[in-house]
Amino acid sequence: MYGENAQKRLVIMPGVYAYVGDLPKGCRLCIQGTKMVIFITGVCHDKCFYCPVSRERFGKLVAYADEEPVHKLEDIVDEALRIGADGASITGGDPLVALDRTIRAIRILKELFGETFHIHLYTSGRYATASVLRELERAGLDEIRFHPTAQWLLKRIETAIKVLRRVRVGVEVPVLPDKVDELKSLIKWLDEIGAEFINLNEAEVSPSNIAELMKRGYKVHRDAPIVLGSEEAAIELVRWALENTRRITVHYCPARYKDRVQMRIRLLRKALRVAKPYEEHDSQGLLRAKRGPRSPEYLHLVEEGYGEIIDGYVVFTPRLPIRGEEIRRYPTKMYSLLPSEKG
Ligand code: SF4
Repeated sequence: MYGENAQKRLVIMPGVYAYVGDLPKGCRLCIQGTKMVIFITGVCHDKCFYCPVSRERFGKLVAYADEEPVHKLEDIVDEALRIGADGASITGGDPLVALDRTIRAIRILKELFGETFHIHLYTSGRYATASVLRELERAGLDEIRFHPTAQWLLKRIETAIKVLRRVRVGVEVPVLPDKVDELKSLIKWLDEIGAEFINLNEAEVSPSNIAELMKRGYKVHRDAPIVLGSEEAAIELVRWALENTRRITVHYCPARYKDRVQMRIRLLRKALRVAKPYEEHDSQGLLRAKRGPRSPEYLHLVEEGYGEIIDGYVVFTPRLPIRGEEIRRYPTKMYSLLPSEKG
């Protein structure tokens, strides 16, 4: 037994998560589906062979809030309101390539939703100099997650630990099954320098990385677009960490849980908040026209032109009266607080 982590609980739920230590706050909110994902730019100056970012996005000056295109800062605020977000994760590309936009997004979200609105950010660290890190902290960033793509970038993590007072510093990497030993060394080193956590992601397979993964001999899981053996390797690392680390949290995050559960919760939250009177949501959180039985009341609405009969059901149309209810159930006047931003 090596240190304090050995006294801690080891939690293993394959397909959901596995960890030793305390889950970072950003992860807890993400698991609850209350984090909005801001893809702030597709531009990144690294070239990871396993990069899962789509060709439509990678290297491009595009931005999204969850899956909604972003053209101005208001679009980010709009999505946060639609899902009732308690926080946001800023990703890309490398958000630090678009530092101005990243800083403005952090500031406006903190200003509008308050200090407790939790924001974390991913970066390779290429542009995370001491002054940039301090600027991010001043803007209100809560958590930074490094994805060191080269040996020299490990220095950036040390710098972050030294200069940041309030921002929590961790690392997030995909787990390729033949890299377990390298990851053990990385975890040991991070534990020694005082990093708070490492998130081990199930390695995803996408149309943009499949050729490179196969060239290197990785295999695709039969049931999901993930690298075969990634989950087993990640769980092995979490078990190992229990007895071989002191304080660092080691957390495995399965891609399948992210897709199936977190995204579904987010869609359901959005559907509940934005559904119009003539809409309802299915179990996936997707909106569709509300339908009902052919009762006298509903048939009367059809006669009035508010619905039609399809497959024996009354299906309502957008003409259904709103009865004084705001279609959007969030304070749209918040927009007046926002400066407008181009691009
Ligand atoms: S740092 Fe991230 S976005 Fe950039 S190439 Fe690597 S995986 Fe892709």
